[in-house]
Amino acid sequence: MTDAPASVQVNGLVKRYDEAVALDGVSLAVEPGELFGVIGPDGAGKSTLFRILVTVILPDAGAASVDGLDVVDDYLEIRRRVGYMPGRFSLYPDLTVRENLEFFASVFGTSVEAEYDVIAPIYSQIEPFDDRRAGALSGGMKQKLALSCALVHRPRVLILDEPTTGVDAVSRAEFWDMLGELKRGGLTTLVSTPYMDEAARCDRIALLQTGRLLRAPDTPEAVARSFRAPLVRVRATGERAALLGTLRALDGVARAEVFGEWVHVTGAGEDAGALALRMQRALEGQGWSEVVAEPVAPSVEDVFMALMSDPDPTAEVNHG
Ligand code: ADP
Repeated sequence: MTDAPASVQVNGLVKRYDEAVALDGVSLAVEPGELFGVIGPDGAGKSTLFRILVTVILPDAGAASVDGLDVVDDYLEIRRRVGYMPGRFSLYPDLTVRENLEFFASVFGTSVEAEYDVIAPIYSQIEPFDDRRAGALSGGMKQKLALSCALVHRPRVLILDEPTTGVDAVSRAEFWDMLGELKRGGLTTLVSTPYMDEAARCDRIALLQTGRLLRAPDTPEAVARSFRAPLVRVRATGERAALLGTLRALDGVARAEVFGEWVHVTGAGEDAGALALRMQRALEGQGWSEVVAEPVAPSVEDVFMALMSDPDPTAEVNHG
């Protein structure tokens, strides 16, 4: 981290929609040049946070600034300085690739030629399809065009709302490679995702759930390391729901959750090795076959699940 002022500063943001509290006192700071991820499931409040930052909606309480400018007082200047990719594609499907880009450039009083160097790393990949209508592009290509459009006015901060949702795994990986390349160029990026595995691609992450941060933002490695309980992954032949129920009923099991083809079991007392052995014997004793139970390194998703069931009491502290 640097001593430079934060590129994005969020202090106690609150936003309500009628009965729903979309943001319930969120605070965070994104440092210049950081690739910062907001990780959370559907409805966590990610879009609401980003819409406030790009000055599309107003907060009910709290304060936020982007590139040193206040989201309420300086909203016009912020709009010039941020590149925003909303959750749903913002492209004009009837315009071609080139026409979409020209349009976004013209809105900011510039041209594709003048800004070519900044968009080139991404745009060059879709340039051969300049005359294709945006509506006829594949998901991955639409994503590249939307990112090019968000970059075409040389933003100082890039704000990307779930850019990889609904995109195939290869395009998702390619997209994160592009964000890495933009980061090497010095761009500050705030990106949201519901995919926990994408957390690893960020410098730091914030875990958001029902409008609150579950813990202070930190590196994905530090977040994963903060999981202190013994953790074991278990699999066996048979019905997953029944396996989950069996594991949850065993002594000394604090939590059991489905993780892909495994069930992750959090223990309470003994170490992970002893817990694994005990799970193995207990399941085999109950007639489960092909049981595998082994210690596993905690991931960001394990931390997320643990904090959801038992929130961190320090999460209310202002981490700005
Ligand atoms: P995310 O982007 O993480 O899916 P959102 O910010 O879209 O989360 O939504 C957070 C909460 O606010 C949800 O409960 C959602 O239903 C509610 N919400 C979002 N936008 C509106 C709106 N325009 N009107 C009413 N409720 C909304």
